Amino acid sequence: MDASLVRSALLVLGLVIFATVESFRPYRVPHEPRLSRWVENLFLTAVNVTLVATLVGNPLMAGSLSLASSPLRSLPPFLHGLAVILILDLGHYFWHMATHRVPVLWRLHRVHHCDLDMDVSTYLRFHPFELALGLLVKAGLVIISGATFLQLVAFEVIFNLSSQFHHSSLALPEPVEKALLSVIIPPCMHRVHHSVIIKERNSNYGTILSLWDRLFGTFRLRDDVPSIRMGVGALMNVRGPMELLKLPFRPPVL
Ligand SMILES: [Zn+2]
Repeated sequence: MDASLVRSALLVLGLVIFATVESFRPYRVPHEPRLSRWVENLFLTAVNVTLVATLVGNPLMAGSLSLASSPLRSLPPFLHGLAVILILDLGHYFWHMATHRVPVLWRLHRVHHCDLDMDVSTYLRFHPFELALGLLVKAGLVIISGATFLQLVAFEVIFNLSSQFHHSSLALPEPVEKALLSVIIPPCMHRVHHSVIIKERNSNYGTILSLWDRLFGTFRLRDDVPSIRMGVGALMNVRGPMELLKLPFRPPVL
């Protein structure tokens, strides 16, 4: 079976499962109506899938895979696969940090952060320009790591399911989240990243492994996670798909 098709099927399945489970067991009552947020987030997804993935993502990934050659390719396949996942996850950690710290990139990334609640649909909420730039970064990482097509597909499945999981509003027992924290990023860690408090927002940049935040001093937790106010302080009233598309062109705000 076509690996790209398997990847897409797994991501849709993950989305449906997390959306179903989080609706039965949310960690808190949402502030906003779920439907209006989902309309915004699915609209951005439709634009991103039809335009960005097709016109930018597919040719860019095909080009980077054809250029990918690295000494890492001489490693046994399992070790090379592991190295690919580590390199791409670490590269994304620094890209995510840049979207917070470089003002022009923050203009784009604030579309993701101005969601006033966080659930699995927030994982899809990205401005098309941010996604296109992120794909350029990923293409560079594919070349550096010497990734093969199947390794890239495996990384994308793990990366996206991790992102769906930690964006979900699923309530998990505290001991389970604590145990997961030692390796991956559970929702309690990423909820701190979506706080309106700037020093909290500028922490927890990882996607798959919690290791990078621990290593580079950006790891942060809170005991009172359900009371975290989410969003961007000056953008609490941005509503509607078109407003989100225009948001990067509005004056800069913190
Ligand atoms: Zn962020």
